[in-house]
Formats: sequence, structure tokens, C-alpha cells
Amino acid sequence: MPQVKLLINGEFIASASPRFIPVTNPASGEVIANVPDALPEETERAVQAAKAAFKDWQRVPVTERARVMMRYQAILKREQKRIAEVLASETGKVFDDAMGDVWRGIEVVEQAMNAPSLMMGETVENVARGIDTASYIQPIGVCVGITPFNFPAMIPLWMFPLAVVCGNTFVLKPSEQDPQTPMLLAELFAEAGAPPGVLNVIHGGREPVDQLLNHPDVAAVSFVGSVPVGQHVYRTATDNLKRAQCFAGAKNHTVVMPDANKQHVINNLVGASVGAAGQRCMAISVAVFVGESQQWIDELAKNIADVKPGLWHDSEAGFGPLISAAAKHRVLELIASGKQQGANCVVDGSDFQVEGFEQGHWIGPTVFRDVTTDMRIYQEEIFGPVLCCISVDTLDEALALVNANPYGNGTSIFTASGAAARKYQSQVTVGQVGINVPIPVPLPFFSFTGWKNSFFGDLHAYGKQAVRFYTETKTVTSRWPEDDIPSGPNLTISLR
Ligand code: NAD
Repeated sequence: MPQVKLLINGEFIASASPRFIPVTNPASGEVIANVPDALPEETERAVQAAKAAFKDWQRVPVTERARVMMRYQAILKREQKRIAEVLASETGKVFDDAMGDVWRGIEVVEQAMNAPSLMMGETVENVARGIDTASYIQPIGVCVGITPFNFPAMIPLWMFPLAVVCGNTFVLKPSEQDPQTPMLLAELFAEAGAPPGVLNVIHGGREPVDQLLNHPDVAAVSFVGSVPVGQHVYRTATDNLKRAQCFAGAKNHTVVMPDANKQHVINNLVGASVGAAGQRCMAISVAVFVGESQQWIDELAKNIADVKPGLWHDSEAGFGPLISAAAKHRVLELIASGKQQGANCVVDGSDFQVEGFEQGHWIGPTVFRDVTTDMRIYQEEIFGPVLCCISVDTLDEALALVNANPYGNGTSIFTASGAAARKYQSQVTVGQVGINVPIPVPLPFFSFTGWKNSFFGDLHAYGKQAVRFYTETKTVTSRWPEDDIPSGPNLTISLR
């Protein structure tokens, strides 16, 4: 059984930990590798390696750091298929979706290649007579990334390329459920020329995370995962006076206006709701039908029912299994609660199985209508291939419903009316809005801007905000006196 390695100071080493967590193929339930719960001394060595590497790496010219990213981008493109295969085998994602997971990460590396422009500061000449002020952006030190299972390529790549190109060093703690993909990314990063210690990877669950959050040599923490863990990470990191950005769970609504194009709505909602088995933080899990558009629910449900889950290499499969038996159990329990609380389950994937893979964590597409806001299927993040449909009479009612929801990651509206779209984008209290676009994930020259319970912190992932998160600003005021030196001291704060 392969044992997933740690990466410390440029060496891929077997952990000495006696504790291992099994990594399974979610399609079969088979154990495919073991990942260690790193020992405290191993986590310590990873931080010390990053701290030592920071001394030199911060002084490497930004152009050279950017060239590492250029090589990394080329290598990732060359190896995209191999990474996607590893990713698909440990997540169950269908191959094209796995390729997308890698591609969306490559796009962040492309953004990191722009570091010389992104790290430009500001200057003003002659702020007072003979005095100039300039601000420089400098790296902050050892940064940490804690990542979830659902995008094992894209989300680590949201973090370490931008942190590292800004001159920081990094310790990554990926999800223990699919750690082989991030390890392959780390291997390829070394091939691109990242010096030893610049990127380190440790594994495990709560213990190594807590050690990193409490470590005096860690300057900043980026986290993506569930709400309770995100809150714990944010509280602990900030209590230790570290910077933190924590991206958490979601309940994303789409609003369907009756003037929208029905076919466009149906085409888009099928993929946005059950694609990747609903295991996307930007999946649409609630569709709010305004007025007459509720007449489209049956046709939408029929189209969703036609999507067949299957194995990652089955080109006919619409999506794969859930990540684990625990995830399947949670989703089945929520589906049962929806039925019990009176929602109308018009497509029920509870009993779905793939022949020959009965031990896999399968759930088929599921659609509820007549969902109300007091039901658990509305209130909780399901993170499965389940769409909840709600009917309201007006756009104002839809807006009030979305705004009352504690999450604020993404939302969308389908309409032919510019006025309705404009009102929605302006008044909705959600950080990422799509107009006739179901899952509005911004490309990496913008930032990923979830709000409310979907994000704890202030500076978001990738784009200019990430550069600010991973850097500190130093402002330098200088005077080079020629022959205008005053005859005595100035005892006031005015500039002369
Ligand atoms: P998770 O919270 O269980 O795990 C995330 C990371 O935290 C993993 O590395 C895990 O090992 C670690 N962890 C788990 N429990 C911990 C604990 N008690 N203390 C410290 N660390 C702990 O999340 P997951 O199940 O891997 O991912 C799914 C969740 O991530 C969903 O809620 C989804 O919405 C969210 N997510 C959010 C975004 C976003 O951008 N907002 C993106 C992707 C996923």
C-alpha cells in the first residue's frame, strides 16, 4: 500500500508517525494509499525549513520568482492529464471535471507569473520640498495553507503560487481524503525550480493544523473548508495575532425570473446543481422560481434525472461518487429529513448504485420541490447532488429569501430584464453574482469574494487581494539635502 510522503526542505520523506489515515477510491470504497498524521516534530521541521528558506527566497528578484511560475505553468500544462488521472482516482470526479480542477489551478499560476506588475508599489515625488515617499510591497514570511477535499488541485494552487511568488515560503496541509494530487503538484513545483524549503507539505487532521495555527513562526493562514472548521481556524489564527483568510461552506441560490429563456435555465441548472456530485462550494443547491417560472420545475427535474453518475473514466458519466461513506451517510440522512419534513422529492437518488461498484459512495441526482426555509435541507449545506426548489411570487420576495440566508458565497439570476438583473446584483448580500451565468467563479485576475458565513477575514483568494494578503507595505520617506540644510533643529511635526 503506498504511503503518502511528507515534503520537508526539498525531501520527500516517509513519516515516522504510527498513525495513518486510509485514502480510499470513493467509487469502490477500496483503500488506495495511507496518509500519515504527521508527528509534531515533523510539522516543526516543515515550519523551520520554510523559515530558513525565507531568508534567501525573499531576496531572489521578483523576475526570477516569476520565471519559476512560468516553468511551473508549462509543466502543469504538460502533466495536466496525469494530474487529472490521479485526482479522479482519489476523488471519483469524472475525467473532464478533473481536468477542469487542474486547469482552474493553472490559471492562478498564470496570474502569479505577473508578479512584477502585481508587486508594484506607489511613489509620490516631492511630498514636501525635497522629500519623496515610496511604498514597497514586501513578503511576510512563512504562510500556511489548509485545503479541503473537493478541489485537490485548484485550491492548493489558489494559495502557494501567489504566496511564493510574492517572496514568502509555504507549508501546505492538504485534505487527508485526497492527498496524492497535492503531492504531485509539489513534486512538479520542485521540477520547476522552487528551491528546497520554499514549499513544504505535511499531512494529517486537527493536530498538525492546530500546531501551525499556534506556531510563532507562522505569519499567515489561508484555509478553505467547512464552516465549523473555518471558524475554529479563523479564531485560533487571529487569537495568535496572525493574518487569516478562511473560505467556508455555502448555500447558493439561483433566482429564475419568468422572462428568462427556459432552455438556457434548464441547461445551466442541471450542471450547476449536480455536477461534481454537488461537491462544489459554488454549486447551486437552491433554485428560487419566481411566478410562472415554477412551471419549468418538472422539465428541469426530468433533465436532472437523466444525468447518470458513473466511474471517472466512463465518458457517459455525468458525475462520480461522494468522497466518503460518511459524506454519503450525511446526504442520505438529509434527503430522508426533507421527505419527513414535507418537501416533495420528485427525483430521488437515495438508492442509486453502479453495478459492480456497490461499495462506492453513490447517490443519484435528487430534486425536491415545495421546499420551505424551516426545513433542514434548506438550512444545512448538503454538499451532494441535491437541488431544492422554492416558489415565490416576486423578485423582492426572492431577494429577501436569499439575503436572509446566513451564507453568501455565490448566487445567480436568470432573466431577460436588465432592470431586474441590476436590482438583484445591487441589493443581494452575496459576494459573487452571476447574471444568466449559474456559477459565477471569477477568473484569477479578480478575487474569489464570498461573504457572510462563507468567508471569515477581509482579503480574499487570488487576484490583487491575495497579493495584499501575502505581503506587507513598507512606506519610505526620503530626503537628500543639497545645500538647503536649516541652521537649527525643527521641534514641530511640520515638514520644512
Ligand atoms: P473540512 O472543513 O472537513 O476540512 C478542511 C481542512 O481542514 C482539511 O485539510 C482537514 O484536514 C482540516 N480539518 C478538518 N477538521 C479539522 C479540525 N477539527 N481542526 C483543524 N483542521 C481540521 O472540509 P472538507 O469536507 O474537506 O471540504 C468541504 C467544505 O469546504 C464544504 O463546506 C465546502 O463548502 C467548503 N469549501 C468552501 C470553498 C469556498 O471557497 N468557500 C471552496 C471549497 C470548499
